[in-house]
Amino acid sequence: MFYVSTRGDSDKKKFCDILLEGLAPDGGLYLPQNYPQLNADDLQRLRQIYLNQGYAHLAFEILSLYIDDISREDLLALCVKTYTEDIFGSRLITPLRKLDDQVAILALSNGPTLAFKDMAMQLLGHLFEYELKRKNQQLNILGATSGDTGSAAEYAMRGKQGVRVFMTSPDGRMSQFQQAQMFSLMDENIFNIAIQGVFDDCQDIVKEVSSDLAFKQAYKIGTVNSINWARLLAQVVYYFAGYFQATSSHSQRVSFAVPSGNFGNVCAGHVAKMMGLPVSKLVVATNENNVLDDFFKTGLYKVRDSSHTYETSSPSMDISKASNFERFIFDFLNRDASKTAELFSTQLQAKGEFSLAHHPEFSKIGHVYGFVSGNSNHQQRLQAIKTIHEKYGQLIDPHTADGLNVAQQFLEPGIPMVVLETALPIKFSDVILEAIGQVPPVPDKFKGLANSPLRFLTMPADTRMVKDFIAEQCG
Ligand SMILES: *Cc1c(COP(=O)(O)O)cnc(C)c1O
Repeated sequence: MFYVSTRGDSDKKKFCDILLEGLAPDGGLYLPQNYPQLNADDLQRLRQIYLNQGYAHLAFEILSLYIDDISREDLLALCVKTYTEDIFGSRLITPLRKLDDQVAILALSNGPTLAFKDMAMQLLGHLFEYELKRKNQQLNILGATSGDTGSAAEYAMRGKQGVRVFMTSPDGRMSQFQQAQMFSLMDENIFNIAIQGVFDDCQDIVKEVSSDLAFKQAYKIGTVNSINWARLLAQVVYYFAGYFQATSSHSQRVSFAVPSGNFGNVCAGHVAKMMGLPVSKLVVATNENNVLDDFFKTGLYKVRDSSHTYETSSPSMDISKASNFERFIFDFLNRDASKTAELFSTQLQAKGEFSLAHHPEFSKIGHVYGFVSGNSNHQQRLQAIKTIHEKYGQLIDPHTADGLNVAQQFLEPGIPMVVLETALPIKFSDVILEAIGQVPPVPDKFKGLANSPLRFLTMPADTRMVKDFIAEQCG
């Protein structure tokens, strides 16, 4: 299997060539040159593998369709190490729980940081360690976080050979829970840097360091952002796991509702559908930051600047520009790389928007690709949390509430609707308190967290100082 850039770079690459990379050299994103096709027999075989041998073996089967430069034996071992009952809390790894006859919730958030990013990041940690060892290389991951991504990256990379993590975050601006989760890590290869500033300052520092190519090369600076193909690929697996739990035969179809921000999660659903998984709808659910919803309704993709990006009660979906969106548009344009480059590098750069409203295929986007969309606001999230609590005695987090709200608009008779649970309520206890008048129970493994000793350092928003610190650690 070779990988191509959405903007047409002619170098064909293997999985491990792109594993440690972000963007392609031409600024595009990597995609496999084709999607392996699964027929009814294949689906039946995968169903049996998931039910009899477990999630890790299902992951191995799917990953091995896309990875042929790691031996099958090693790849299986990596999957088995990653997806354990011990780390994800159940044998099914992503168990499905029914709300009623039609709607069910796919639990993706039982990993170490209680958000779905663990599903991909935990695998990435093992893949990175494996590949760095093979290449006899070191990697220094530099990131900026306001919560979720940073903690998922740290929990994935802690204790891994060949990797250090330098994670900047805005000093005093993360939730207590998220801060304790990250800063309580004592691993020698994890460095938490609280920057005296806001999230944008952290991001600017990362950008400045990354644009200093000499420094970047000398100190092997890398990232783990959501455009990484390996992360997306890992996410394809749970669409299969969700499908197998929601159905008993491959003659049935399923819809998925996905709380969306950077379009990574739902793009993995798109890949699963392209491979032949019987998916009816892919419901793109946004919050008040509804750039994606606007696109699927009107064909106009209009990015926003940070002053028009709202802070909401589903903060992991507060994006103004969906970094994975280009992957779907490339497929939609029949993989016309020059047209994709024209839209994303020329038009978006110049005008901050492009429109496909008049594209002859746009009106069929729901029919052909399954994409439909909607958004919800703070009051609607609170209402959903309250209703689910009253009706079913269950708690959902505000992101999952966005998913559930929009899912209601797209129910079809006889087709199960699977809502992806992207975080657990404990991470957003203030919103839960507002919705139902009580805070969610703290899971056992986090009971001592509030009193754990913390390990972090504080710095002014000064790129020079961050660079010096990295250089010092690399000694
Ligand atoms: C990252 C995240 C999302 C958005 O996922 P994308 O892949 O960026 O679309 C939604 N909910 C939670 C809790 C997240 O952490």
